[in-house]
Amino acid sequence: MFWADKISRELKERGLPLEWVDDMKTPSGKIHIGSLRGVVIHDLIYKALKEHNVNVKYTYIFDNHDPMDDLPVYLPKEKFEQYLGMPLYKIPSPVDGYSSYAEYYAKDFQNVFNAIGCNPEILWTTDLYKSRKMNDLIKESLDRKDEIKTIYEEMYKKTLPSEWYPFQIYCTNCGKVSTTQVAGWDGAEVTFTCYIDRLKWAKGCGFSGKVSPFSDEKEIRGKLPWKIEWPAKWKVLGITVEGAGKDHMSAGGSHDLATLICERIFKYTVPYPIAYEFFLVGGKKMSSSKGRGFSASEMLEILPPEILRFIMVKTRVNQAIDFDPSGSETIPNLFDEYQEAADNYFEKKNEDLARIFELSQIDKIEKPPAVRFKTLAQWVQMPNMEQEIKKEGLEKWAKYARVWVDEYAPESERFLVQEKLPDQTKNLSAKQKEYLKKLSDMLDNTKNAEELQAEIYNLSKDMNIPSKDVFSAIYIALLGKDHGPKAAWLLQSLDKEFIKKRLQDASV
Ligand SMILES: [Zn+2]
Repeated sequence: MFWADKISRELKERGLPLEWVDDMKTPSGKIHIGSLRGVVIHDLIYKALKEHNVNVKYTYIFDNHDPMDDLPVYLPKEKFEQYLGMPLYKIPSPVDGYSSYAEYYAKDFQNVFNAIGCNPEILWTTDLYKSRKMNDLIKESLDRKDEIKTIYEEMYKKTLPSEWYPFQIYCTNCGKVSTTQVAGWDGAEVTFTCYIDRLKWAKGCGFSGKVSPFSDEKEIRGKLPWKIEWPAKWKVLGITVEGAGKDHMSAGGSHDLATLICERIFKYTVPYPIAYEFFLVGGKKMSSSKGRGFSASEMLEILPPEILRFIMVKTRVNQAIDFDPSGSETIPNLFDEYQEAADNYFEKKNEDLARIFELSQIDKIEKPPAVRFKTLAQWVQMPNMEQEIKKEGLEKWAKYARVWVDEYAPESERFLVQEKLPDQTKNLSAKQKEYLKKLSDMLDNTKNAEELQAEIYNLSKDMNIPSKDVFSAIYIALLGKDHGPKAAWLLQSLDKEFIKKRLQDASV
């Protein structure tokens, strides 16, 4: 049984009146493809639950109030360095037309997950704070700071400073959050200092003050540290299903801490957890701040939405995805696998593969092209093939075939019809030359590609030359290398007079 169906069957058995599936992300820069995996996993569980007639809701929270704690390499330092330590929703957008830095990167990511068929309801953490719903749990956390501190200390086997408080106040003078430290709580207000040099990467203003930690529709005063905020959100919203990447889910990781706070302090049942593996590129974990790997939006330039979704649907959650398209067959193989899954769906063969295909669809079930991606990649390199591509309805995939050929295909898959007779034709055998001469004469009769391909074979038999020698001769004459796309199709795509002359020239 497909993994998401297994999970949803298990969830259905517990019989909750509402299953609330949630995922989240801090929009601190271009969001990389690894985070997309979380969105799809939660989407699959949401959709499977719906199909199992469970009352279910799916939300995605953008933590737009988190501080900027690192400067992405692709942003100008002179403009953005001043905002380090500031909540993301207060930082200007790097691109015009967005209310903030957080909104710009969140929307960029949302566009991608919408494009691949994930449409959770979007929530912003700032709205959650403004709604005052977090205030009770902020009070509870401050009131019970000693218990929370003990949980931290037991878990991380270290002693926290005595003035430690589970709250991060926004400096009322400079607006930064990373630079402040709460030093007291009287049940109504916290005292705090904004330290100038406490951090290496962000400067505070030196201000000290006393202020309420409670937010309202007019102002957000601060935030819970995220390991406490995580369970607070579970409780405040009523979330019942939420997974995370394995870095958070490992023993002693943030999920373990959030679990203890959830159970001991907030007295709320921990949402059904799903730990999922990484999405790697060339075996390496991606990093948005270092600009390594692919951002989610970059992936959509390389793969059509259904194939991008398919990668994440077909891989079990506990398996890492290693996507390394450079100079390899990774991309054509993916398309092949997708077509195979489609066959299983339409011909009602392997149930799991059929289900994977079904769940990889975006809006409606769509039969993929029958032509192999690698063939298409050859077609897009041949002249005069646009008509054929159009006729077969392949324009959509042809776009990605071009990207593959230009950016990722190994050299052996790239073909270019040579303008001049390639030097390599000098090395052709007398028999090969004779063959090219005969083939040139044969081209006069109009034929379709299938007939021509058959005649290429027949002529090689008649002349008693191994067919591989025949094909390499044709490729050398046209492309200057000994292999290429299906010969008859290549010949058909070119101007007849040009080929006739080329084959003649190569035969002397
Ligand atoms: Zn300050």
